[in-house]
Amino acid sequence: MIAMTAMAIKVATITIMMMMMITINIKFTTNVSLDEGTFAFMHWMNSEDKKSLTSQNPIVLVKFVNDKHTILYDTDLQSEIYIEIDNGVPYCKHCKADDCSHVGFAICVEQFYGHRRGSGTEETVEDIIFDN
Ligand SMILES: [Zn+2]
Repeated sequence: MIAMTAMAIKVATITIMMMMMITINIKFTTNVSLDEGTFAFMHWMNSEDKKSLTSQNPIVLVKFVNDKHTILYDTDLQSEIYIEIDNGVPYCKHCKADDCSHVGFAICVEQFYGHRRGSGTEETVEDIIFDN
């Protein structure tokens, strides 16, 4: 009887652990790209030359128009990435996705710099970086 109870506890524990692992796995697979974008943003924020496209930054901000679009430069892909913002929801034209690292970066830009001025105000990188 004691052995049966121990067995039942063991099975229950394993079941809970498996459920937790699945939950963690889902969380990671859906957020890993966005997290990469967040990391790239923090990297860019802390970099000395924010305008350098040949720097070690994976992603560089090129242009930002509040609530309209964000243009990034991906140094790995060596191309400009156009992020369209529709009703506050960013969409990457390059990846044709709304959860890639570029979108993660754009969300950070929006959260950090957006809504300071009127909607649709075009801000150059100089405005954004030096005119806080
Ligand atoms: Zn993308």
